[in-house]
Amino acid sequence: MPFGTRDAKQLYGIDAWGNDYFDVNAKGHLTVHPLRDARSVDVHDLLGRLKRRKVRFPFVLRFPQMLGARVNEIFDAFDHAIREFGYPQAYRGVFPIKVNQLEPVVADLVRAGRDRGMGLEAGSKAELTVALQHDIASDSLIVCNGYKDEAYVRLALRGRTLGRNVVLIAEKPQEIDLIASVAERMGIEPRIGVRIRLRTRGSGKWERSSGPSAKFGFTTQELLDAIDTLKRYDMLDALCMIHFHAGSQITQIKRIKNAVKEGARIYAKMQAEGCHLEYLNVGGGLGVDYDGSHSSYEASMNYSVQEYANDVVYAVQEICDAENVPPPTLVSESGRALVAYHSMLVCEVKSQNAETRNGKLIVPADAHESVVELFEIWKGMTRKNHREYLHDAEEMRDEILDSFQLGYLSLRDRALTERLMRRIGNQALKYAKAERFVPEEFEQLERRLVTKYIANFSVFQSIPDSWALDQLFPVVPIHRLDERPTVEATLCDVTCDSDGEIDRFVDLRDVKDSLPLHELDDGESYYVAVLMIGAYQDVLGDYHNLFGRVDEAHVVLTKSGQPRVIHASRGDEAQDVLRLFGHDPDAMVEALREHVDDEVKARRMSRANARRALAEYKAALADYTYLDFD
Ligand SMILES: *Cc1c(COP(=O)(O)O)cnc(C)c1O
Repeated sequence: MPFGTRDAKQLYGIDAWGNDYFDVNAKGHLTVHPLRDARSVDVHDLLGRLKRRKVRFPFVLRFPQMLGARVNEIFDAFDHAIREFGYPQAYRGVFPIKVNQLEPVVADLVRAGRDRGMGLEAGSKAELTVALQHDIASDSLIVCNGYKDEAYVRLALRGRTLGRNVVLIAEKPQEIDLIASVAERMGIEPRIGVRIRLRTRGSGKWERSSGPSAKFGFTTQELLDAIDTLKRYDMLDALCMIHFHAGSQITQIKRIKNAVKEGARIYAKMQAEGCHLEYLNVGGGLGVDYDGSHSSYEASMNYSVQEYANDVVYAVQEICDAENVPPPTLVSESGRALVAYHSMLVCEVKSQNAETRNGKLIVPADAHESVVELFEIWKGMTRKNHREYLHDAEEMRDEILDSFQLGYLSLRDRALTERLMRRIGNQALKYAKAERFVPEEFEQLERRLVTKYIANFSVFQSIPDSWALDQLFPVVPIHRLDERPTVEATLCDVTCDSDGEIDRFVDLRDVKDSLPLHELDDGESYYVAVLMIGAYQDVLGDYHNLFGRVDEAHVVLTKSGQPRVIHASRGDEAQDVLRLFGHDPDAMVEALREHVDDEVKARRMSRANARRALAEYKAALADYTYLDFD
């Protein structure tokens, strides 16, 4: 059966998780649709342009227009729900800076969100310094979360004098006193919010972020005490926001609804206690459907953005009506959902283990008789006898390897045995998979036989959550998508860590242990992309083996629909990363120079060799930390 681009889209699930941002064109290349319309960027066709701009593999591609498209998707959903239900207040989103602190990402979001009233959320003093200097609308919010000291509070209050709508969220009771006393001393009227502790838990990987044992938030008694404290300072009217956050990547809409209902009820009851609250902030947690299954699996979500917005608006409206209190302006702090789609990592795949190649396998006449027998088993395997023959082969292999251990066989016999066993395993697996029922031993066999492709990247630096949390990201070749992939593979990175491997892949019904990829052509480069890495991955990475930040390019579509690279930046040089860990590259060069001088003086080294060694060493310090396959 021929294999077409439609098959590739189905195989990788591109339509399922792509959310209309990704597609495959007639050339069999992955395309990106940053504006979610017909205009697209052919990722493979970009490679030449990127090379001219000296962008090296691996690199991150960013699509700034996609950030704007996501801002619109989410704001449109809330605006639509507000209109539909006749909700009397507005929606105000804030972007939590911690989800991606990169300057261009925050700046692009601020630009895209300005007309929509989008603000920023800071979780620390440093993040607040970022938020305060951005040109956001004066009534857009700057929400300050995270534990606070006096300096944090002072900076936030200064923000009020700069005309910014800064709200300080108290995470624990002592912060109410802190905020009130600092505000009194500075003579600045604060705007205060309180983070409440919900009974409702989130769902998915981060469900412990809420619920009774969460790290943050006020209990009900603490909430009442806070009201009393503020009354004492004569600052009750400063209390303007109720905030909760039920965790990231909430997979079930039911949990969201429950959390919003609980939060809205507390909002309403606080109004009844004499508070004049203005905002209800439902936190983050809006999910991203990484595997496209639309399910409540941790890599997915069983609802749409519109359903989310509808449920938030409806639940708050219903409770405020029932309690007869004025409905609040709605705030959410979606981070992941805003930025996840906008970036991808593109890396070059170089090698696969030699024994996995399907070249000719010849058993020479002088091979050991057991090896010849193994060869006969392979030749004689049929659909009917495959299981029995596999068992025979495994027994034979154990005998052969024992004999090798005792010194009776050559290295060549051992090599042939290993290669034959791979062929036999693959053959048996093929027959087994054609049966209706696949015995468990074949599932294990399949795992053992998976081909390991080596790709030029570091899991730890570029997709840390894949390693730390087993988070799934879609992985797709960026070309040859009109060609049937014939190899089941995992992707190993270039670090020296056996955890540096992607061996779990998205699937509509399951999590796959391997990814169908194409046989590598000698001399032809093969490229894969890890998609939807825009949330959290840019900031959590570490420098395992001193592999550093990667090169980057930002790509937009012009008015005429042509892709344009508007920005390219260089990743870390070895010396940049070394400095991070206290090494001094200049001193390192000096130390080597002294050593080389001594060697020359002692006539163990020629002057020319000394010069060459030093030059090479300096070049290595100024080099990109990843491999150069060209
Ligand atoms: C991390 C965080 C967010 C962002 O959550 P997402 O799931 O990325 O939307 C929002 N609010 C608070 C308080 C957070 O800690």
